[in-house]
Amino acid sequence: MPLYEENDLMLYNSLSRKKEKFSALNAPHLGLYVCGPTVYSEVHLGNCRTFISFDMVYRYLRHLGYKVRYVRNITDAGHLENDADEGEDKIAQRARLEQLEPMEIVQNYTLNFHEVLAKFNTIPPSIEPTATGHIVEQIDMIVKIIEAGLAYEKNGSVYFNVAKYNESENYGELSGRKIEELISGTRELDAQSEKESPLDFAIWKKASPSHIMRWNSPWGEGFPGWHLECSVMSTKYLGEEFDIHGGGMDLKFPHHECEIAQNKAGTGHKGPRYWMHGNMLTLNGQKMSKSTGNTLSPRELFSGDTDKLEKGFHPTIARFFMMQAHYGSQLDFSSEALMAAEKGYHRLMSAWHKLQGLASGSGADFSVQEWRASCYAAMNDDFNSPVLISQLFEAASFINGREGDSGLSDNDLELLKTTLHDFIFEVLGLEDIAHAASGGGSDKLEEVVQILLELRMQARADRNFALSDTIRDQLAAVGIEVKDGKDGATFSIKS
Ligand SMILES: [Zn+2]
Repeated sequence: MPLYEENDLMLYNSLSRKKEKFSALNAPHLGLYVCGPTVYSEVHLGNCRTFISFDMVYRYLRHLGYKVRYVRNITDAGHLENDADEGEDKIAQRARLEQLEPMEIVQNYTLNFHEVLAKFNTIPPSIEPTATGHIVEQIDMIVKIIEAGLAYEKNGSVYFNVAKYNESENYGELSGRKIEELISGTRELDAQSEKESPLDFAIWKKASPSHIMRWNSPWGEGFPGWHLECSVMSTKYLGEEFDIHGGGMDLKFPHHECEIAQNKAGTGHKGPRYWMHGNMLTLNGQKMSKSTGNTLSPRELFSGDTDKLEKGFHPTIARFFMMQAHYGSQLDFSSEALMAAEKGYHRLMSAWHKLQGLASGSGADFSVQEWRASCYAAMNDDFNSPVLISQLFEAASFINGREGDSGLSDNDLELLKTTLHDFIFEVLGLEDIAHAASGGGSDKLEEVVQILLELRMQARADRNFALSDTIRDQLAAVGIEVKDGKDGATFSIKS
């Protein structure tokens, strides 16, 4: 029996604003879509948190035995500077500033995004589609929305008719906004606006003469509206109805609200059955913002090369720190909090290593079965990773209190090992860096260097000084410095 059949997973559905019992449309298959980055600058830490949260969600769903198709898009066209369908395309703007082709910007920052997420040990999605790779499908959906009478063309642009949609549907159902309030909250349309109402949004924009990223369409040369790509790519790969759609809280309105409207207008279905939203990061108690300078990049976090932190932290420490908060709550980054997480991480890891050396026995006052059930109960309660971590610490305390003999039967000892392994490495996605210096090399690298140093000692014993010097020089060439002392050689790895 797959694990998902014995676990009632409850998740907070942003659409109903309630915790609901999750059931997959076509178990064991499960469709998960997460809004990916707009690749016009280095990925920021707040976005990393969203992707790390959904990586944990993805990992737990896989652990439960679902065959998850995880789709996360790359926005490489159509995302304008502001939500009012005005201004320059963010990627084209960056291309102009850096005097590069827009696709060079896209390539550059997509690589940066992948590199940073790999450092955080996230698993790549099953499919990573791009907006520019799906222009034809986007045009098809626009045609369907026009045919449904829910969009209109004006001077080469196409706008979604929100008021018309709202006659039979509820625009605002996800964000909880009322259409009347939305209208009174928007400024009057200026005389040149082509929109019939300020709430209408562009699903196709006519390209101005200076706009570089443009494609042919039935309405002339232009480019798709940003919200459209997610409706198109989620339904193309996961079906018109699918299981879970995730993204950052900041995307709830208008982006996700517009997605629902487009899905309904273009396919007759509203797309995902469950909406999940990850919360924001703050830094030293303040909102992160470029304009106030209160920001921290992943690079600064890892290197410590910033006045915002006292030192750098290994990505897995940062990941552990993020997992100590529920994905739906705000989380504040600070040196003190990260240092506390680092201590906790090492306490957990040393218990894990100690456990490998404990023998079976009897008489321990610790029920592995009950403890294991409480780990699952934590994750089944809307992926409550902080409660899970407190359970892992319960096990760590038990392990640290034992010497030589675990007091557990063979079966219980084995179950404790596999359960800890599953939750620490598979579900939380932590890495074992216990013996490596923060930000430095990995255990494996150190072991390999140690092997080379032993070979070098052998060479010296054989009076083969040429070989011994070659080993030292070649290690130096890759940044590993060998120092000979009276007790043998030591080494340091420059990162
Ligand atoms: Zn999206």
